[in-house]
Amino acid sequence: MRGLYLHIPFCQHKCVYCDFYSLETTHLIEEFVETLLVEIRLRAASISASIQASETSSTLHTPLQFHTVFFGGGTPSLLSPQQMERIITELQRHFVIDANAEWTMECNPGTVTPQHLRAYRELGINRLSYGVQSFHEDELRFLSRIHSTDEAREAIKLSRDAGFENVNLDLMFALPNQRFEQWKSTLDIAVSLHTDHISAYSLIFEPGTPLNTMLQQGKVQKQNEEYDAEMYSYAIDFLGRHGYEQYEVSNFAKDGKYCAHNCLYWQGDEYVSFGPSAHGYLFGTRYWNARSLKRYTESVLSGALPLTNSELLSDKERMFERAFLELRARGIRKADFMRDFGISIDNALAPLLREFVPTGELTNSAERVQCTPKGYAVCDALTVEAIHLLEKYSGVQWKQQEEAEELVQEWDE
Ligand code: SF4
Repeated sequence: MRGLYLHIPFCQHKCVYCDFYSLETTHLIEEFVETLLVEIRLRAASISASIQASETSSTLHTPLQFHTVFFGGGTPSLLSPQQMERIITELQRHFVIDANAEWTMECNPGTVTPQHLRAYRELGINRLSYGVQSFHEDELRFLSRIHSTDEAREAIKLSRDAGFENVNLDLMFALPNQRFEQWKSTLDIAVSLHTDHISAYSLIFEPGTPLNTMLQQGKVQKQNEEYDAEMYSYAIDFLGRHGYEQYEVSNFAKDGKYCAHNCLYWQGDEYVSFGPSAHGYLFGTRYWNARSLKRYTESVLSGALPLTNSELLSDKERMFERAFLELRARGIRKADFMRDFGISIDNALAPLLREFVPTGELTNSAERVQCTPKGYAVCDALTVEAIHLLEKYSGVQWKQQEEAEELVQEWDE
């Protein structure tokens, strides 16, 4: 599997908790779309040159195939259908995209209209992801979201009317002063709307955000860890009872409607990314685009890829990252792990399996080692232990303890 990611760096209003790169403006969108089209062409040419450079007389030039496309941000639903069409046409002109690809677009419920939704669907977008966060007005106000609960409900209804059969809602828990009953009813409403997929995240106080400043000034308080864990456990149990399969620490899907694009990240697959602050992973190399729109634009319009950094991952890094990410998601695929790294997961993780399979936190099938819902609730501890065992078994150290803990925290966010 291989994916394309496009970062649309604009929002109508900046939410107090958000540290994604986005500008609180819409008047630069048209100019940005022009630049993005140029980046698509530059990136395609660069990939094609890399493939040709690696060809030998016995290999043929095979264009890469892509299976997912994800418009994230920022707020992609600020783009008009005409702007989306130009981007999609350019992607299809330069990349081979599978006919059955998953095409996701992140949306803010406060920005969609029936006409735009129908047009996005006609353009081939087949999955929408709404940043709903809560079905309580006081919580939406606290988070400084631009939409109301009614608008969120309406957006979902309009999406169905426009023909979308795969809709995700992002929800947030452990907000300051959030009563347990409020979290329960948010989940209840999300389920009653027949949502196909739910991402449930604990509120993070990201450094540099207004919310974190409020915390430092004593204006808000974090929920304590036990309360946060109870809310999370409730979500796992409640969503499980309503037919949602947990397939990653924070993600739940009905009828197997996993987010293919996110699964690709969690399996260590390749993805090509565009837009300011986007990062990609291709041919074993991870790269980062410039974060500021200004620097990004200057670079692209001068004919250069807007890179700020890139690193070639070693086999060792790929191995640990794969184990780490897969255990947090749909499980470590044993045969693939053996093929790619020559390591038997059954042998390397034997002590972990002996302890946590009988307690019902892990399952160990012929195909994979996976967390159960009970295991996802303690996934950080399980992954740290798994990495520790893998280090012992392979005789190489992945990261210093501190770095490993930072990574766990990053993925929790
Ligand atoms: S709408 Fe989304 S991307 Fe924009 S500021 Fe709010 S959370 Fe961040």
